[in-house]
Amino acid sequence: MTDAAVETDWRQRHAHDLMASYAPPLRLLVRGEGCWVWDDEGTRYLDFLGGIAVNSLGHAHPVVVAAVEDQVRRLVHISNYFASPSQLELAERLKRITGAGDAGRVYFGNSGAEANEAAFKLARRTGRPRILALKNAFHGRTMGALALTGKPALQGPFEPLPAGVEHIDSTVEALEQAIRDDVAMLIVEPIKGETGVVPLPAGYLRAARELTERSGALLVIDEIQTGLGRTGAWFDFQHEGVVPDAVTMAKGIAGGVPLGAMVTFGAASGLLQRGDHGSTFGGNPLATAAANAVLGEIERADLVGNAARRGEQIRAAVEAMGSPLVTEVRGRGLLIGVGTTDGAAPAIGAAALEAGLIVNPINPTSIRIAPPLIVGDEEVEAFTERFAAALAAS
Ligand SMILES: *Cc1c(COP(=O)(O)O)cnc(C)c1O
Repeated sequence: MTDAAVETDWRQRHAHDLMASYAPPLRLLVRGEGCWVWDDEGTRYLDFLGGIAVNSLGHAHPVVVAAVEDQVRRLVHISNYFASPSQLELAERLKRITGAGDAGRVYFGNSGAEANEAAFKLARRTGRPRILALKNAFHGRTMGALALTGKPALQGPFEPLPAGVEHIDSTVEALEQAIRDDVAMLIVEPIKGETGVVPLPAGYLRAARELTERSGALLVIDEIQTGLGRTGAWFDFQHEGVVPDAVTMAKGIAGGVPLGAMVTFGAASGLLQRGDHGSTFGGNPLATAAANAVLGEIERADLVGNAARRGEQIRAAVEAMGSPLVTEVRGRGLLIGVGTTDGAAPAIGAAALEAGLIVNPINPTSIRIAPPLIVGDEEVEAFTERFAAALAAS
């Protein structure tokens, strides 16, 4: 093969061998370290997407490498007929950092969608028929999670979906109108990540807590993207001082090793009965050991505080660029949405990639930025330079 053939080969192989459900991939990545990744041609990129808010400690973090190496040597998997020390440690830790405390309980799956499937079953166990979710919300792609996802374009081809889910506007008035004592749960993302990092209206979560409590419905908060320190608190709902009945989490929990979890609070902890739900891989020793390493390091190095501080710094830097293409800067901590003039986002994303910066033009008017929680001065500086260059080139 000629050099040119070798270079294009991986794109052809991807198109030939992988299911066509994803867009053609942007680069072939072969290695990562900290906030940087390298492609097969040796080009280095500053990774400000972090595997979609997954790589909390960046790439190849020594603490994660050591924990995974050690656990692989001991036990990778045992099934849920048995318990493991790392699973017990993680469950205890999640009860603590969510604030669920003593009455909390933890269910482990392998992804965000699976965490929300567990929440769906939790809701069914109330015996109430109706479930409320928000228009434009994203809760995952499996059939139950897809039923919760408020995006008709994603749902349409796959109907019929599990019944009983109604999508309402993200306003307190819409919730007041819809909620009755036949509602099993309201599920919300505190910041709609897949919709371009769009926060709930101020005060919404507190009002939702009051209204769900009054009608006896569960309030389930989907923190799959916002959770585990990303927004400058362990969980975004903690900024609002509300206590949910359940919180789902996944992305940033285990440094990229697949793991999802649902943590229940108070009485909701008693809803699922023996035999109600399960997962072969869920909560296995490898994934939970990786999560303990990630969350332990976040705590040790105060990366929750770092997320809050660096987020402010990055938002201020983008605003200071004064680009006519940027209409607003949204989000909290290190989950940032840059609003652009209509249609500008894809070109900015492409120009950034050319400039050696990975950001995510998630729709025609939004760029999502979700760097590892370890970002420091060097990375913020490199981002500022490259993002400004991308805006200038677009
Ligand atoms: C990513 C995401 C999901 C789905 O998680 P998967 O691991 O892709 O199944 C669900 N909810 C939210 C808010 C997400 O960001």
